[in-house]
Amino acid sequence: MNDQLDDLYRDIILDHYRAPRGRQPLDKSDISSEGQNPSCGDEIVLEVKVDGDTVQDVHVNCQGCAISVASGSMLAEYVKGKSIDEVKKMSETVRKLLKGEDTEVPEEADDLDALKGVRQFPVRIKCALLAWITLIDGLKNYENGSGGSGKKVSTEEEN
Ligand code: ZN
Repeated sequence: MNDQLDDLYRDIILDHYRAPRGRQPLDKSDISSEGQNPSCGDEIVLEVKVDGDTVQDVHVNCQGCAISVASGSMLAEYVKGKSIDEVKKMSETVRKLLKGEDTEVPEEADDLDALKGVRQFPVRIKCALLAWITLIDGLKNYENGSGGSGKKVSTEEEN
């Protein structure tokens, strides 16, 4: 963790890193998606239980740096009980936040605001994005009924 990261942001990120949310395995899942961030070595496995168009539960297992783990934990905390549309919207918000574009983080997800601090470290942006692009890929496969390509999502395909 870099000392230059704002204290507040760093505390929030470290809190999620030390006690990641969504670690409990699910008894059954509708979506399973894997992602990797080769530039840092982060790897993630996401499982999601869906009921209609609502995310009922999520399991996140991220092996990687503090930022990738914290971002996955924030994702787990946020998506539970949200509609698929809300989840998609939030992943777009996270992307904008990381790229320094104008966006609003809803109050209920204010921990995610800490990811702003990552902007100062461009090489870490992909770490923070990993969980979100992996989730979006899983949702896409779910919605088109393909059940996944079996291929890992990679942050290298991001631009
Ligand atoms: Zn990383």
